[in-house]
Amino acid sequence: PSPLREDVRLSVRVVPFGNHERLIAARDVSHFFRIERMRRDFVANVSHELRTPLTVLSGYLETWSDMRDEVPPPLRPSLEHMSGQAARMQQIVEDLLTLSRLDSESTVAGDQVDVPIPAVVATLREDAEALSGAQRHVITADIDAELWLRGEIKELHSALGNLVSNAVRYTPAGGRITLIWKAEADGGARFEVRDSGIGIAAADIARLTERFYRVDKDRSRASGGTGLGLAIAKHALQRHGARLEITSRPGAGSTFACVFPSGRVVRKTTRARAG
Ligand code: ADP
Repeated sequence: PSPLREDVRLSVRVVPFGNHERLIAARDVSHFFRIERMRRDFVANVSHELRTPLTVLSGYLETWSDMRDEVPPPLRPSLEHMSGQAARMQQIVEDLLTLSRLDSESTVAGDQVDVPIPAVVATLREDAEALSGAQRHVITADIDAELWLRGEIKELHSALGNLVSNAVRYTPAGGRITLIWKAEADGGARFEVRDSGIGIAAADIARLTERFYRVDKDRSRASGGTGLGLAIAKHALQRHGARLEITSRPGAGSTFACVFPSGRVVRKTTRARAG
């Protein structure tokens, strides 16, 4: 008889009971959802509140850095160190905000458009070259130029981009990195990043997409990581009905693959794009 409330969530099970009857067991799981929402809101609020003071601090540090010659020499190393740490904190806060947005209750991606994945992958390859710099990784790409995806461009860009930048960051200088964008036999599509890098042990693979899970914290930090990249990628992919497959062996490199369902795939002929 109690009035129905909108935020009530029930977990329902139907169990055979006797020959022709069924027992329906309903459990009130609303509190799990409420706690989950509180956790999400808390992280989003903390990140949001930290953003402004951090911007102010970074602004002053930047001004001091611009006046480096006037800063007393003994203080210069600490100024550089502070600037580096402030930039790192800003990156963490931005990643946390991105993650809160992707992890919000809506499970579908934002504005849906036809996303030119071939162009996105070409850009990511250039970004990878720039990130590699003097490390001179050998970066190649094999792209199906007519294969586009229906989705949200920023989310897809950041999901694929995180995988590509990880390949560079976890592959020693001179190593090989290959980007592949191709159709699947079932009408779906697959984006793959293969690297000849340090690889990952089986026990770690299962946990990589957890927030802040890092196999080697020092290495992650030294290469500019926040430990949130793969969590962001996983959520963005989930919102596109896609899954992330990771295969790797320590010392033998890794393959990160994003597998998109056929419903997301859009075929664009070269002529259609020119028009
Ligand atoms: P991070 O900012 O630490 O790179 P990610 O969420 O992107 O955070 O990745 C989580 C962890 O997964 C990394 O710290 C690293 O240990 C491991 N990892 C990710 N990509 C690779 C890769 N291509 N090769 C080896 N290890 C990887």
